[in-house]
Amino acid sequence: MTRVAGPMTDRAEYERIRAAHLDAVQAALDDHVGRLDWTAEQIRAHRDRRLRSLLAYARERSPFYADRLRGLDISAATVADLGSIPMLTKEQAQGDWDAIVTTSGLNRETAEQILNEQSWFSYTRGDQQVFSSGGSSGVRGVYVWDWEFFISTACLAWRMQARAERRGQSVKDARLAVLSAGVPPHASTPLFDVPTVAGMQTVVIEAGAPFDEVLAAVEQCAPTHLVGYASVIGRLARASLAGDLKIRPCRVSTNSEPLLPEDREAIVKAWDATLHNLWGSTELGVQAVGCGQGEGLHICEDEVILERADDTGAPVAPDEPAVRTLATGLSNRTFPFVRYDLGDEITLITEPCPCGSAFARVADISGRHDDDFVYGPHSVPASAFRHVLGTDARIVEYQVVQTDAGADVLVVATGDAQSLVPALVSALRRHGVADPSIRIRAVQTLQRHQASGKLKRFVPLPGR
Ligand SMILES: [Zn+2]
Repeated sequence: MTRVAGPMTDRAEYERIRAAHLDAVQAALDDHVGRLDWTAEQIRAHRDRRLRSLLAYARERSPFYADRLRGLDISAATVADLGSIPMLTKEQAQGDWDAIVTTSGLNRETAEQILNEQSWFSYTRGDQQVFSSGGSSGVRGVYVWDWEFFISTACLAWRMQARAERRGQSVKDARLAVLSAGVPPHASTPLFDVPTVAGMQTVVIEAGAPFDEVLAAVEQCAPTHLVGYASVIGRLARASLAGDLKIRPCRVSTNSEPLLPEDREAIVKAWDATLHNLWGSTELGVQAVGCGQGEGLHICEDEVILERADDTGAPVAPDEPAVRTLATGLSNRTFPFVRYDLGDEITLITEPCPCGSAFARVADISGRHDDDFVYGPHSVPASAFRHVLGTDARIVEYQVVQTDAGADVLVVATGDAQSLVPALVSALRRHGVADPSIRIRAVQTLQRHQASGKLKRFVPLPGR
């Protein structure tokens, strides 16, 4: 077996490559900030050229897309032609991994090997980063981000903030507190631990740690800028309002979870800071970001194409109801996602934005709350469990059943999964459940719905 990353890639080596990567992000950010002033026609022309480039490349280098895109006249293709290409489900993307990836130096097995062997984040010899996350369908995903895709995604994540910083007064001694997973395999830490102001210091704080530790770390950092999980930032804002946290951030960015109205309200009230909400995925990177002025989020139309579609994947008109959102990422050549089913529904905002950008807007993504577990005053989103259960290579399938004090987790696993209990306990604590009780039980199979064959992955207590 050939080794792609080598065992235990040296952390210092990672940091040196990362420094080179971050300089490339800073250099590309100027271009990205400038794009925010493009006209709708400029955006459309750029997007269609990028689409033709992606499709032609994918058809040439990926056996999966060679088959899917056969017969398509790519030289004249536009967004309107995407409807003739089948949609891509998460199961297909993960099941056909080796046929989709466009580089000969990487396959699912070597990607898993990297995830398994790395002691910290790492780069392959081909400058790719391998990440993993559990998505809305509960299927574990393994993803590869190439050099250019990371640069593009980091620019999308930060260009709205960078534009605002450049327009406003400069912040002295800027410090960014990054509340994220803090450790591999989630992409959140490399993506959000990015300075956007010259000389900005960054401090990564593990969002899943007990909340009093998070609170103390944030207070000690005294951040001028905050970025992190929406629920954690919301909780920090409430702590600030209660007098338990004394910080004065001027810019706040939320990600990874739906930004609930109560969290948004607390953030605005606590700090009077400009708030940028971000909607992203490990597959596509970043789909949309709020500008801090108008409502909702601006779609990153220059790098991501979003289609509203019906149940079969056929595009629907703007005034027709859609049941799914299909996304095509224009900058990840190494693992192309073409018409990928994101699972979220979007609502377009048609009025022009007060910030002046012509990039189309969507309303805040609300997510699906029917999977939430409610414990007294605290609500735990399904994503809290998915972040842990959906990213562990030992877990083939899982089901989470709510109990009065926590949850019973049934797993079909290839190894002992008991070591995940602490991570699940801290995930629940992060959402306010003080002393959660978690039991993990290995089973041979999970009970599926008789008619649909679908698995109800999250089973709340009745009457909640
Ligand atoms: Zn705007």
